[in-house]
Amino acid sequence: MSLSLYNTYTRNKEDFKPIHDGEVGLYTCGLTVYNYAHIGNLRTYIFEDILKRVLLYDGYKVKHVMNITDIGHLTSDADSGEDKMVMEARKEGKTVWEIADFYTKAFERDLKKLNILPPDHHVKATEHITQMIDLIKRLEERGYTYIADGNVYFDISKFPEYGKMANLDVNALKPGARIQVDAAKKNPLDFVLWFTKSKFSDQEMKWDSPWGRGYPGWHVECSAISMCYLGEQFDIHCGGIDHIPVHHTNEIAQSEAATGKKWVNYWLHGEFLVFNEEKMSKSKGGFLTLESLEDKGFTPMMYRYFCLGAHYRQPLSFSDEAMKTAKSAYNRLINKVIEIGKNRDSSKTNESFIKQVIDEFKEKINNDLNMPEALAVMWKVLRSNEIGDKEKYEIILDFDRVFGLELDKAEEMLKTQAEKKVDVALVEKLIAEREEARKQKNWKRSDEIREQLNELGIEIRDEAGGTYWRIK
Ligand code: AMP
Ligand code: ZN
Repeated sequence: MSLSLYNTYTRNKEDFKPIHDGEVGLYTCGLTVYNYAHIGNLRTYIFEDILKRVLLYDGYKVKHVMNITDIGHLTSDADSGEDKMVMEARKEGKTVWEIADFYTKAFERDLKKLNILPPDHHVKATEHITQMIDLIKRLEERGYTYIADGNVYFDISKFPEYGKMANLDVNALKPGARIQVDAAKKNPLDFVLWFTKSKFSDQEMKWDSPWGRGYPGWHVECSAISMCYLGEQFDIHCGGIDHIPVHHTNEIAQSEAATGKKWVNYWLHGEFLVFNEEKMSKSKGGFLTLESLEDKGFTPMMYRYFCLGAHYRQPLSFSDEAMKTAKSAYNRLINKVIEIGKNRDSSKTNESFIKQVIDEFKEKINNDLNMPEALAVMWKVLRSNEIGDKEKYEIILDFDRVFGLELDKAEEMLKTQAEKKVDVALVEKLIAEREEARKQKNWKRSDEIREQLNELGIEIRDEAGGTYWRIK
């Protein structure tokens, strides 16, 4: 069964053919480590993990590289605004290096909690400055750059294919057609490859370069890092859809201009996680982290299950209600898996049914990673009377190589949930607060607290002797 993937570059679903038989080079844009990852970022990393797991399930050897953006990402993707890392460092009264280190560790913890397979190389941009300088030198030698106001720019007019993936109308954006953001640019879509001190005098992270002491533009890091580990041509590059018009467009331009070759064969982009009808982002409200979900009683695996419920090319709307639905489906799932796991000596085989469901599962996952339908196949297996629990258990654990829901640890999950559920100190504090509110006949507050406890999974009963509580 061949794997078919939607390639943003051609806007078509295509059969996947790797450059080298049986091997896949995969690059995924990493996080800008100036803050915690929000659950929107994490949706993209879950989608990329599913892609990787499907490739592994299909028998490919995968070499996966991800960068850590610890330098150069400005508040706008297109060279305007301030450096995100510098701003955060100032706010927190720390050095940029401390900020990068702290949030990189937090991000790696999140990936682990979500059972996302670690990349073979998860590397810092700041440790690949030499590769970036070399790439810029190559572009300079081939005539794709110009220097203005101390910065080195990529000249998009020298690269006729510019904006092809994003279907950009470059002419509509000729200078003067829009408000000029950076007067030094010949074309508003030109982008910075190397900044020098002329732009940000308070930039903490700086390196010597042939163009003066400074630091790289954001886009150049992904081209330099991916080529360093995967070669000048590789198979798949991913990110969220926000990266199509600027970041990935610029990555393609500078990579292909430097090598004169096609760079990446398949471009996959994940749709947004939306919150109150807007893209979840760090700068806007509704910034939720994995930890804040945990505080609401949703485990990382529940969030993973929630994400699997939507196709990666569909926007996914986040709300507490939607999460609660995912939570109860997930709890039904692990309870069912525990049950069949305990019953594993009861066997009843049915070869044709087994073949049918496995084929169906493979068809779904290979059809552009259709997780919602693959989950439906899993539920079909769990509900079936055609096979015994032993067979079901084996099939489900096999499917879980793709889902990554840690179903082999179902019992442990349930236990941790139960333990986590009762933050006794918090429950008692809320109950005391509620009793006080009731004494003052503040029924509104009392109801609010009851609801808060309810959300924590705690049921309360008011009796003559006081308020009693139990885990729901
Ligand atoms: P950044 O740190 O901004 O480069 O983002 C890291 C990854 O998260 C990129 O692949 C983005 O495309 C992706 N991303 C950002 N916001 C969202 C969102 N609301 N939903 C899904 N993915 C997102
Ligand atoms: Zn990137």
